[in-house]
Amino acid sequence: MPPSSLSDRDRQVIWHPYTQHQQADPPVPVVRGEAALLFDDAGNSYIDAISSWWVNIHGHAHPYIAEKIHVQARQLEHVIFTGFTHEPAVQLAERLLAILPGDFEKIFYSDNGSTAVEVALKMAIQYWKNKDQPGRNKILAFRHAYHGDTFGAMSVSGRGLFTEAFQDYLFDVLFIDTPDENNAAELKSFVNSHGNEIACFIYEPLLQAAGGMRMYQAAGLDGLLKTVRENHILCIADEVLTGFGRTGTLFASESVPTKADILCMSKGITGGTMALGATACTREIFDAFLSDDRRRTFFHGHSYTANPIACAAGLASLDLLQKKTCIEQIQAITKKNKNFLNDRLLHAGAEMVLNPRTVGTILAFELTNGQHDYISRIGGFIRQKAMQEGIYLRPLGNTIYIMPPYCITEEQLEKVYRFLLSLPALIGNL
Ligand SMILES: *Cc1c(COP(=O)(O)O)cnc(C)c1O
Repeated sequence: MPPSSLSDRDRQVIWHPYTQHQQADPPVPVVRGEAALLFDDAGNSYIDAISSWWVNIHGHAHPYIAEKIHVQARQLEHVIFTGFTHEPAVQLAERLLAILPGDFEKIFYSDNGSTAVEVALKMAIQYWKNKDQPGRNKILAFRHAYHGDTFGAMSVSGRGLFTEAFQDYLFDVLFIDTPDENNAAELKSFVNSHGNEIACFIYEPLLQAAGGMRMYQAAGLDGLLKTVRENHILCIADEVLTGFGRTGTLFASESVPTKADILCMSKGITGGTMALGATACTREIFDAFLSDDRRRTFFHGHSYTANPIACAAGLASLDLLQKKTCIEQIQAITKKNKNFLNDRLLHAGAEMVLNPRTVGTILAFELTNGQHDYISRIGGFIRQKAMQEGIYLRPLGNTIYIMPPYCITEEQLEKVYRFLLSLPALIGNL
């Protein structure tokens, strides 16, 4: 028997995320990564222009993070996190609390973005139970939000294709639009009229990512948050994606004066190396769970809570992120994105490029060739063309976006930009 290829073996045993296996091309076997590049088994390289689903910030196989992981794995790989503690967990919490925008005092660890959100929602719901205010039982969220794929996280996400099959099992949520120039008064009156029945408001600050890279302004969000807070509703900032420099500042909430009570982190927290989630909360939240009555305990935890290797990776990633060079890289990408959008993208096939926008290291636009039947094909077509050019992109429908690791070189970014400029002509012939 001839040895079968990795993609043949994959087809036998693997079910991939967000993949329609009846239509999907065989997956590309990746054998190694280095900085912004991925290498396949045939020796081709691809610029990872979406940071491997938004997690990678310092590049692949970073030697500094790898070394810290190695050292930690040799010392303590894991220990149950109830009744025990360890240096990486405590130190990472200390360092996160020192840089988070807000009055956060405690970190609760989990192991991905969805669980960081579940923890936040459960904290907020039980907070009101513990305060003997069971009438505060509704949750407020934005339309087109995305907070994860577990049931609680799905419930507070915009309802659509991803959640359709589970609709009957999702809890009721009050959905509102993101703030813009026109709807401030309307949003405010909605919040005021439901205020005393709402436990918490969950939002992705400045950028609704999976919902279509929708960007909105800090000022509008701040106005809304003020009203939310006046109604004593707990605010949950989901910074799973926006955290760790993505929107140009360390956290998107830095540009929003009204701070959250709870903040969720994951994705970039370990630089994209290890699975880790973290939920920060204020002392007010934490204190509401202190009691001689054991029922007020927060009964939540995961087997891998505060995994020491993941926390060590988090510390290493923070070391890199807080270096002057990394902050300069983030600022440079931010500036280049703006220049690219204004000086070049707007002139390339203007009628096909819709709503070009950028925040920090992220740039997005919609593409249309006027033939709406083709919209669903555009994403897959562009992904394929990009791969042929040595670039990895993964459009969300007809929303094209880039979200590169901060270490992407000028030449690599220029190559990605040039590919984006070639798209109107490419899809014009589709
Ligand atoms: C990706 C994402 C999540 C879910 O994180 P997972 O680690 O994929 O479970 C939650 N919130 C936001 C804003 C995200 O972008």
